[in-house]
Amino acid sequence: QTSSIKTVNPYNNELVKEFAPMTDIELTAIIDKADIAFNTWRKTPFEERAKIIHNVASLMRARKEELGKLATLEMGKLISESIYEVELSADIFDYYADKAAELLADKPLEVKNGEAFISYEPIGTILSIQPWNFPYYQITRSAASNLMAGNTMLLKHASNVPQCAQLMEDLFLEAGLPKNVYNNIFIPGRETEKLVLNPKIKAVSLTGSEPAGASIASAAGAKAKKATLELGGSDPFIVLEDVDIDLAVKTAVEGRMWNAGQVCVSPKRVIVPDKMKEEFLTKVKDVFATLKVGDPMNKDTNVAPLSSEAAAAIVIAQINKAAQQNATIVMGGKRMDRKGAFVEPTIITDITPEMDAYQEEIFGPVFMLYSYKDIDEAVTIANATTFGLGGTVFGNNIKKAVEVARQIDTGMVYINHVTGIAPELPFGGTKNSGFGREQGPMGIYEFVNEKLIRTT
Ligand code: NDP
Repeated sequence: QTSSIKTVNPYNNELVKEFAPMTDIELTAIIDKADIAFNTWRKTPFEERAKIIHNVASLMRARKEELGKLATLEMGKLISESIYEVELSADIFDYYADKAAELLADKPLEVKNGEAFISYEPIGTILSIQPWNFPYYQITRSAASNLMAGNTMLLKHASNVPQCAQLMEDLFLEAGLPKNVYNNIFIPGRETEKLVLNPKIKAVSLTGSEPAGASIASAAGAKAKKATLELGGSDPFIVLEDVDIDLAVKTAVEGRMWNAGQVCVSPKRVIVPDKMKEEFLTKVKDVFATLKVGDPMNKDTNVAPLSSEAAAAIVIAQINKAAQQNATIVMGGKRMDRKGAFVEPTIITDITPEMDAYQEEIFGPVFMLYSYKDIDEAVTIANATTFGLGGTVFGNNIKKAVEVARQIDTGMVYINHVTGIAPELPFGGTKNSGFGREQGPMGIYEFVNEKLIRTT
């Protein structure tokens, strides 16, 4: 029997390398060691932790080409996007290395007599489960804050990016992180739940699909452990009447084709005024005609393959269902006639509430165009899915755009930009997109004990 943990290059579907899953005995030993390592790591001063975490950032920057190529090999994203991701990750490590001591300094509370303050203390070993779409950034988002806070962790990465996963563990050790503080584990997703039962795992964090999140969070709930979840989205991109249409089209198409459409905060539903629809669609088609789909290692390519054959098959099934349910496939809609996990860049219009495409997240290069008669209808469409991750309002009048942004039920809204990522800004959603925040000042408080100390 072959392992599910393996590198298969989605550009040509060739198997590159396979890894054996860890046994229960190995996993228990890792958890035991991480639990012991916590006793020392929690007492390691911030300055020492920061030195190591800054080293991680430096190593990533120095080796960004190598790391970038590995991500592109394993999950197919454009090489420029892989390298950007490595740089972004380095910035996030630096951010927490610089800020953790300040963010976690004792916080005095106003009291009538004596003194009271909050002491922020790490809680132990965290189980972090991450997806393949940003092989380094997803690890970073979870590891930078947790390690700086003094927690130890187990990182279970997606089964299709095992080499990126292993490389990150190697990099932490090279940077000087003591052994057993950060632990890469090889285990299939469906078997991961049992680790939550181990009393030495104190909390769990997952980014991925709703079923995976629901199963992990219920396992954590049954043991009264904290969980944070980031479960994808179907971000609305509302275009107001006063925009520069060319700029709005360019931003929306580039955002949607980012990572071949496999981004939780990609603008999956573009919502334009009725009277702008025809012109907008014509311009989207013009931009689509210039897209170069191909080898992700080639710097001229702007649309990559999907991460796997299975991912491509899911997207094609979703497109076919939309067509059967009478949506209009304006462009694309098929597998490309070539080797690899390629799906044609696709434009879909005429999507109505009873269709599955109205609700579902489509994780591929599929541009869905909606139109509205007034702002109330735009907001209704924007809020119609069960997701609530990010979103965009595009408009020249910023005050008006912010007013619309306030009405969107998501965790993040960007004006005149697709939902973005920055070390200093929080990331996370509401509704079925999950709960909890990573990154920014808020990210570091998820897995700490906010302990009250009171003197009278
Ligand atoms: P999954 O949710 O299956 O995978 C994400 C991570 O969760 C992987 O590490 C996976 O491991 C693990 N996992 C899977 N099942 C379980 C489980 N029962 N308990 C614990 N961990 C589990 O996502 P897919 O890669 O299959 O993608 C499916 C869809 O999920 C996408 O089409 C997209 O809609 C959404 N998604 C959203 C992402 C986001 O950024 N928010 C990222 C990825 C996916 P393993 O690989 O071993 O199965």
